Parts: sequence; structure tokens; C-alpha cells
Amino acid sequence: MKDFSYAAPTTLAEASRLLAGANGKARILAGGTDIIVQLREGLRDADLVVDVKRIPDLAELSYSPGKGLRLGASVPCCQIYEHQAIAKAYPALVDSARIVGGWQIQSRASVGGNLCNSSPAGDTIPALIAHGATCVIAGPGGHREVKVEEFCTGPGKNVLQPGELLVTLIFPPPAAKSGSAYERFIPRNEMDIAVAGAGTWVKLSANGAKIEQARIGLCAIAPTPKFAAEASGWLAGRPASEGTFAQAGELAKKVASPITDMRGTVEYRVHLVGVLVKRTLAKAVERARGGDA
Ligand SMILES: Cc1cc2nc3c(=O)[nH]c(=O)nc-3n(C[C@H](O)[C@H](O)[C@H](O)COP(=O)(O)OP(=O)(O)OC[C@H]3O[C@@H](n4cnc5c(N)ncnc54)[C@H](O)[C@@H]3O)c2cc1C
Repeated sequence: MKDFSYAAPTTLAEASRLLAGANGKARILAGGTDIIVQLREGLRDADLVVDVKRIPDLAELSYSPGKGLRLGASVPCCQIYEHQAIAKAYPALVDSARIVGGWQIQSRASVGGNLCNSSPAGDTIPALIAHGATCVIAGPGGHREVKVEEFCTGPGKNVLQPGELLVTLIFPPPAAKSGSAYERFIPRNEMDIAVAGAGTWVKLSANGAKIEQARIGLCAIAPTPKFAAEASGWLAGRPASEGTFAQAGELAKKVASPITDMRGTVEYRVHLVGVLVKRTLAKAVERARGGDA
């Protein structure tokens, strides 16, 4: 691995100054489970590695039913699923955080790093989209906000400009009668990259019979994770039934533009979108009704 300098700033301003001053040759390190591998393999180059774990803003993990969740960009996955109130309020997020690698990876890997790595197959990204999360980004020009579904712009690419870093992910407060779920398909039981993944969120009517609102996020089915906007909108007002879930799955296929690779063909991935959307909607509805899916 090529030598690089290392800095561990303790403020956002210092981090931003270091990043902006490195002529595009600085890389951010949170858990390091992607970036260290990429630097070792020569897939990424760095003169300076900026470790952001000591910046308090990025380590924030605060939740209240009225205000929602603020998830700092460097918080490791294990802290999320070990927090009982968060696990109850944001089940899709927790489903995804629990399957990023194994325990060792989850004790380092952050959801912020998963998003900023911007892999089309990043497991937490469909869940972030389903929960309607917003990115808070800091940089030389101050702070700005971007919806998660607009963050990734291509494989390994995103909207971050030189000197910018992801600070926090903001989740809306959990709505009454809402539930969510994330599932991926992998050929093995664990420790594999998604062939396709779907995260769904629903809010039901007071009697639990109809879907009032829904959001569907997908991964590994296009160059970037996707928000299935048409299928999500179509679900509003529909009965929360197997037939509805299956039709939403068919509609969600419209946003899939996958590739054929060693993990699956185009046709197989499109088929998986239908299956995973249907399954996760059923699970999200069961959870919204108070079930223990
Ligand atoms: C054995 C193994 C198994 C894995 N399994 C899975 C899996 O099942 N599912 C999955 O999705 N991924 C998996 N991964 C990939 C990786 O663990 C995840 O993507 C993880 O969430 C990355 O988080 P991190 O904190 O380690 O990121 P880092 O490696 O620290 O950073 C990732 C990228 O984001 C950038 N970055 C980090 N934080 C910020 C920030 N605040 N602002 C701007 N840019 C930032 C970094 O510069 C880098 O480019 C696996 C990796 C390994 C090694």
C-alpha cells in the first residue's frame, strides 16, 4: 500500500479544511471496512486519510419519538441495532445494519460509510430511502441537505464536492401504524454482496386495512440505489393485501436497469425486485399491525 499521511480532526471545520487543502487526494475514513481494502488494492489513491470518528457531530446517535432519529455518519452498525427504541422505530434500518458483513465488520462499519462508498449494492441504502432519510453535508460553503435517493450518482460516485463530508442522517419520527423491512437475496446465508435488495416502509390506515403511504428503495438493480417512486405512490389507498404487494413489485421493476455479472443475470435481478418488494411489503405491513415479523 502506498504511504499516506493520517489526520484525526476533532471538529467539522478542521476536517473540512484538511479535505479542501489536499488537492483531491484526501480520503475520509470512518470504520475503514471499505476504504482500507480499496487503498490496499490500489482501487483508490490517497495522500491523506482523514479519520472522522473523533468529530462529535459524526458520532451522534439520538432518538426521540417526537423528533425522530439523528444518525451520525461514523456510528457503527452495532450501535444502531443494540438500541432497542431505534430497533423498534426503524426496523428496515436495523434489518440492513444487522447483515453488513459479520459482527467484526458491524462493530466498525458505519451506515454513513456504506452510503458514501456509494456501491450500487450497499445494503443500508434502500432502508435509508424507505425511511425517507435526509443527508446533512458539511463543507467549505457551510451545510446543505440532500435526500438519500439523490445522493448516489453512479457506482462509487455521489454528490459530495471537494472538502465536503457527510455529517448526519436525519430520519423523520416514526408515524403511527407504520412498519418497514429490508431483505436482500444472496446465494449464501451471510457475508455476501446483494444480488438484489429491497427496503420498504408503509403507513396503514387506523384499522390497518389500507396502505396510506409507502416508500420503496432498491439496490443492486441499477448503477445506483433507487427510489421506486411510481410503485410507492401507487400503493397509497390500496388494500394491504398479497395482491397489492405483488402488483407493487411488478411496478417497482420499472426502475430496474441491472447488469449481468457473476452474481446474477439482468432477467434474474429484475425478477428478484418483484419477489423482494412483495416479501418486504408483507413484512412491513405485519410490523405496522404490531406483529413480530
Ligand atoms: C468482510 C466484509 C463484508 C462486508 N459485507 C457487506 C455487506 O454485507 N453489505 C454491504 O453493504 N457492505 C458490506 N461491506 C462493505 C462495508 O463494510 C460497508 O460498506 C460499510 O458500511 C462501510 O462503512 P465504513 O464506516 O467502514 O466506511 P469506510 O470504509 O470508512 O468509508 C467508505 C467510503 O465512504 C467514505 N466516507 C466514509 N465516511 C464518510 C463521511 N462521513 N463523509 C464522506 N465520505 C465518507 C470513505 O472515504 C470511503 O470512500 C463489507 C466489507 C467487508 C470487508
